Amino acid sequence: MLITEKAPAKLNLSLDTPRRYFDGMLKWDMVMVSADLADYVTVEIHDQPGEIKVYTDSSFLPNDQRNLAFQAANILRNRFHRREGLTINIKKNIPVAAGLGGGSSDAAAVLRILNSAWDLGLSLEELARLSLSIDSDVPYCVYGKLAHVTEHGEKIELLPHQPHYWVVIAKQQISVSTPQILRQIDYTKIKHLENEKLIESLENSDWQTATKYMGNVLEPLTMRYYPEIKRLKDKMIELGADVAQMSGTGPSVFAICHTESRARRVQNGISGFCRNVNIVTLL
Ligand code: ATP
Repeated sequence: MLITEKAPAKLNLSLDTPRRYFDGMLKWDMVMVSADLADYVTVEIHDQPGEIKVYTDSSFLPNDQRNLAFQAANILRNRFHRREGLTINIKKNIPVAAGLGGGSSDAAAVLRILNSAWDLGLSLEELARLSLSIDSDVPYCVYGKLAHVTEHGEKIELLPHQPHYWVVIAKQQISVSTPQILRQIDYTKIKHLENEKLIESLENSDWQTATKYMGNVLEPLTMRYYPEIKRLKDKMIELGADVAQMSGTGPSVFAICHTESRARRVQNGISGFCRNVNIVTLL
């Protein structure tokens, strides 16, 4: 049996962390959405017992248990005592280590595929809970729809579907270490977001107000190392984006525009100093 699933990139419309848990993990308060920039994950389920094999078209990615898609398959295999060999093929379109949750989305796609192929009957909530050990973004990616995400990343409350806005996603040639940025968080200095107001405006389909409450508290931390992220963001606003901000710990910056022509203008305006630019719609 061969099943293919789309694994879309995630964007943080808002990203805040109210505190650290006693075990050092972060408590999150985020509004996340998915964009139509996606990897394609194909799982072949063999009839005979065998191993999990992962292949990708990216030379940077691990093909063993370090691959998040491998880990996802392993969790369900162990939990449900399945022994069939699995071959996972990943066609990468989402830039790697970019703050766009590519690995997490690939893992979530594997979970959805195996849940359905093996008829496991797990709800999305159960899949999300099982997936938290892989990465804090995987539970959201299991749903892949506009949602308020809290706790360690496993509490997902879906928000009403939004109209199809255009989004320009740009990744400069910078490598950001997520753990390094998260270690820098100083809770006495964070300027917290008003996520409840963002959620209220999204629930009222008041996009204009919603844009005022979007934000990412990690931006100043990453921008301290990479001021070019701020320059890109400022340029996107200057070119007419409704919102421009960093996703996750960066380095990707996305601009949301309410018309395609505005998005094209942003894309053209930044293409001179950023080569990895995608223009897609929000899902
Ligand atoms: P995070 O902020 O959670 O580190 P990210 O969204 O910035 O993630 P990813 O593209 O998910 O970026 O890559 C993060 C790390 O995960 C990379 O070091 C990469 O080698 C590893 N990784 C493992 N499996 C995958 C995969 N299937 N796709 C992308 N990266 C993967």
